[in-house]
Amino acid sequence: MSQIPSPLKTITTPDRRPGSSVEVSSLAGATAIRAARLLLSSNAEIIQDGAVVVQGDTIVASGSWLTIQPTLPPDTSVLDLGDLTLMPGLFDCHVHLSMDPSSFATTGGIQLQGEELFARMQTNCSRVLDAGVTTVRDLGCPGTFSTEFRERINTGLAQGPRILSANAPITVPGGHANAWGGIASGVDGCREEARKRVKEGVDVIKVMTTGGFLTPGSSPEKARYSIEELRAIAEEAHAHNIPVTTHATGLEGIERAVDAGFDCIEHCAWSVEGGTRFDEEIAKKIVAKNVAVCPTMNTACMEKDYFCPWDAREHVLKNLSRLRQHGVRMIVGTDNGIGLCPFERYADGLSVLIEAGYTLREVIASATDQASDVCGLASVTGKLLPGMSADIVAFAGNPLESVEAFQNPRFVMARGRQHKLKPIPPPADNSEMADLISKLLRKGAGLSSAK
Ligand SMILES: [Zn+2]
Repeated sequence: MSQIPSPLKTITTPDRRPGSSVEVSSLAGATAIRAARLLLSSNAEIIQDGAVVVQGDTIVASGSWLTIQPTLPPDTSVLDLGDLTLMPGLFDCHVHLSMDPSSFATTGGIQLQGEELFARMQTNCSRVLDAGVTTVRDLGCPGTFSTEFRERINTGLAQGPRILSANAPITVPGGHANAWGGIASGVDGCREEARKRVKEGVDVIKVMTTGGFLTPGSSPEKARYSIEELRAIAEEAHAHNIPVTTHATGLEGIERAVDAGFDCIEHCAWSVEGGTRFDEEIAKKIVAKNVAVCPTMNTACMEKDYFCPWDAREHVLKNLSRLRQHGVRMIVGTDNGIGLCPFERYADGLSVLIEAGYTLREVIASATDQASDVCGLASVTGKLLPGMSADIVAFAGNPLESVEAFQNPRFVMARGRQHKLKPIPPPADNSEMADLISKLLRKGAGLSSAK
């Protein structure tokens, strides 16, 4: 892992411990953000009365207020947040910024184009920030909308989280999300399609190694590519230093992706005909090859109005807890953007992970530094250390004591820009809609609607 870059030569942070000394002269125009509690990284202890000093888009100091305060020039602006917990901005490693979570749509259903679609992405990005999420992997959209919107944010034309774009996922003819344009088959065809993504400037290549519940008739439990085809994509991605991940609901497609050298598995639902079946041997292989898993728990997986179509809720949670017992490297993602999974309700997915047996520290790691590591951003974001990006959130309560804290973001800053928070509405009553969606999804997948 590369060293954390030091943005300013005059800053002395020899050991990068919290509260390391900062020369006063270097802090012109800095802002100190102070709160009752500060969590610098997922494995740190809470610092009581802490502060993070930000200059431009970068953290220049962090630690105890008592240590930091004497180092600040007299005209430093201090933002005292009071009884909150400051922590690193969160990751959502699986979103669809081009989809409209307020209505149910299959992957064929994105009708908007051009500026209208960009406007939707802007609205969605704002809701992402409302949840305290400052980095997303946008894992599937029509054409090249994601990289284009990413550039709008990076150049300041639009406001939003840091976006890691996949653009159109690579999928077989008639396969999951084929309407988005990434259709390819055969070893040469797959390699060619991966090259196209590289030319588009994607940050990650997304493949559909199985069908999906949101594309009727695409067979979520079946593998759709051969190992040779998948290897060609992985080789092409890795030759350009780009990670490759896959939508994989079905057991067979999970195993092929792992064998082909993929870096990450989305969903990892263990779907087989008629339900799910956790496979110990595949789980061991996932661990041995250090493949990350993004299980996409979200609002649909909550006990109330459960409509995740993979299997009964108890089985989905059991599969997840077995994945944890095997020591699989898990990262947080939600699939938000799909019907009734709103971006601002990110914390719902975290509470499901807790129910499956993950500890609060594990969840925090999976949503911060572990995720940044998997995304290749370990030196950039995921911790509140000097030299890193000013991606900072503050929650009411203490996220190390209760997952409920994540429902209450009170301050969000992404790359040094403070976001004007809009309140998160209470969960909607989705019972009828959820039931309908569940039936539709299971019917599309050829499953009986009874659970
Ligand atoms: Zn998805």
